[in-house]
Amino acid sequence: MISIRSRRELEAMKDACRISAQALQLAGSLIRPGITTAELDHEIRRFIESTGAKPSFLGYGGFPGTACISVNDEVIHGIPGTRMIREGDIVSVDVGAYYNGYHGDNAATFGAGAISPEAQALLDATRESLYEGINAAQPGNRVGDIGAAVQAYVEARGYSVVRQYVGHGVGTDLHEDPNVPNFGTPGRGPRLMPGMTIAIEPMINQGTADVRTLKDKWTVVTADGKLSAHFEHTIAVTTSGPVILTKP
Ligand code: MG
Repeated sequence: MISIRSRRELEAMKDACRISAQALQLAGSLIRPGITTAELDHEIRRFIESTGAKPSFLGYGGFPGTACISVNDEVIHGIPGTRMIREGDIVSVDVGAYYNGYHGDNAATFGAGAISPEAQALLDATRESLYEGINAAQPGNRVGDIGAAVQAYVEARGYSVVRQYVGHGVGTDLHEDPNVPNFGTPGRGPRLMPGMTIAIEPMINQGTADVRTLKDKWTVVTADGKLSAHFEHTIAVTTSGPVILTKP
C-alpha cells in the first residue's frame, strides 16, 4: 500500500529529513585519507543522537552501523569498521534518521583527497542522474518515468544501473511501497500522487551492472571490481512538483 501524506504529515517529516541531510553533510566534511569507516560512523551517530533523533539503520535487519559506508567497488551496505580511507578512494555514505515518527533517508558518494578523473566523472553522472529522476517525479507521472530518466542519463554516458537494489517509499517506515527502480519504462508503474514520499537512489556502476554480496552478508560489491557510486534524496511529490526533503 502506498501512503499518501497530508500537508501536516509532510511538515512533520521534514525534521527527520533535515537531520539525515545534516548527518550526510557532516560525513562528507570528515571524509579524508587516514580516517577509518568506524570513526566516520561514530561521528555520524554522535551527531544524529545529539539532535534527539535515532539512526534509522542501526539494528535494521541486524545492521551493526549507523551509516552504510561503501568504498570504491562497494555499491551499498558497507559495514563501518577498521578500513582506512585512502587518497583517491570514493566513499558512499547512506544514512537515515528517525525523528518525530518519521524517517529521512539520503546518500552521497564523496572523494577522499584527489580522485581520478574517471571516478569524478562517475560521481558527477550519478549525482546528475538523481536530479533527472527527481525531476521526473511529477504528479501524474508514473514510477517508471523516474527509472527511465535515471537509466537514460547514465547509459548515455556508458555507465550501468544496478538492478537488484532499488529506491522505495519512505515515511513512518524506512522502507515502504512503492519500489522505485532506477531503470524502467516511461508510463509504467504506480502513478505518482501528491503526498507520496519516496527515496530515489541511483546506484551506478562504471562497468557491469552485476553485483554480488560479500561473506559478511551485507556488503554489496560490483561483480567486476570496478567503481560504483550512489546518491539519494528523500522527496515529496506535491501538486507543484517534487520537493527535496533531505536538504541540510
Ligand atoms: Mg534508501
